[in-house]
Amino acid sequence: MPDLSNMTVSIERAAAILREGGLVALPTETVYGLGANALDPIAVAKIFAAKERPFFDPLIVHVPDIDWMPRVVGQFPEIARQLAQRFWPGPLTLVLPKVDAIPDLVTSGLPSVGVRIPDHDLTRDVLRLANVPVAAPSANPFGRLSPTTAIHVHAQLGHRIDAIVDGGPCRVGIESTILQIDDSGVTLLRPGGISLEDIQSLVGNVKLPVSTVSESPIAPGMLASHYAPRTPLRIVSEAPSSVASTRTGLLVLCNSAAFTQFAQIEELSPTGDLVTAAANFFQALHRLDSAGLEEIIAVRFPENGLGRALNDRLRRAEHHSSDRSST
Ligand code: AMP
Ligand code: MG
Repeated sequence: MPDLSNMTVSIERAAAILREGGLVALPTETVYGLGANALDPIAVAKIFAAKERPFFDPLIVHVPDIDWMPRVVGQFPEIARQLAQRFWPGPLTLVLPKVDAIPDLVTSGLPSVGVRIPDHDLTRDVLRLANVPVAAPSANPFGRLSPTTAIHVHAQLGHRIDAIVDGGPCRVGIESTILQIDDSGVTLLRPGGISLEDIQSLVGNVKLPVSTVSESPIAPGMLASHYAPRTPLRIVSEAPSSVASTRTGLLVLCNSAAFTQFAQIEELSPTGDLVTAAANFFQALHRLDSAGLEEIIAVRFPENGLGRALNDRLRRAEHHSSDRSST
């Protein structure tokens, strides 16, 4: 695998590679994205190949500011405008009708496209210099833990991509909240970096899909197995007082001082703050996953604010573990 220092590039070089149809990992406030020119189906196909991502999982398109919207979406209703004004740049993706210029490969053949403005100056500069919308899923192999540092990207995908822009650790640390906007109103497709409460306070009623975890290919951020460590993960309501194996790890929000029975403990926020917990979440899981443990026990988060998105990611990580043990 090449050195990380051989892979990191300037924003000018990153923009040139994107324009030439290459793949560049880009920092955002959520997680690192694997970017390609969203208007070039060959470049977009390389994302799917590098990630081994199934073609039925559509990509989010990134733009640097709201004036670019007509290059990506065919309609931008008033409610989208309000959400954009309040939460962009930021961890919110809006799913809206696409323009013809966006290839079907980006949207998995859907007539709609997910779009957002990331809150990261380096990446918005790259997008402006490249002067094309950029499709970017998380820069990790499909289904695995999301990368929140350039080192994570390098370790998981370094051999398959052209370059990395190193923007430091991701500030928010979990993926964007995805909202579908259509005639029936606003639907939450995936909980994420903006809490449901914050969205409801602006737009009122938000519809929740029947289940936020499904096997349906319609909104594949909803795939049951996703964001998963290699080590089996089990969710509990409270940390157990004894564990079967000495090689058990614990992922917990706070108050971990009392636990001595675990080989490794990751406490996400000493004060129990969910925003801090989100920022540390994937890094902590990466560390637990590379510690040679037999099992990771994760204590469920409070189901409010960013806790909803964190619990969603835990459920998918657990689902993956149970899948694997049964096959
Ligand atoms: P990620 O892999 O984190 O970039 O997430 C991309 C996710 O965005 C997909 O898995 C879908 O859930 C969602 N998404 C993107 N585009 C669409 C769309 N047109 N319709 C519904 N969901 C979408
Ligand atoms: Mg992803």
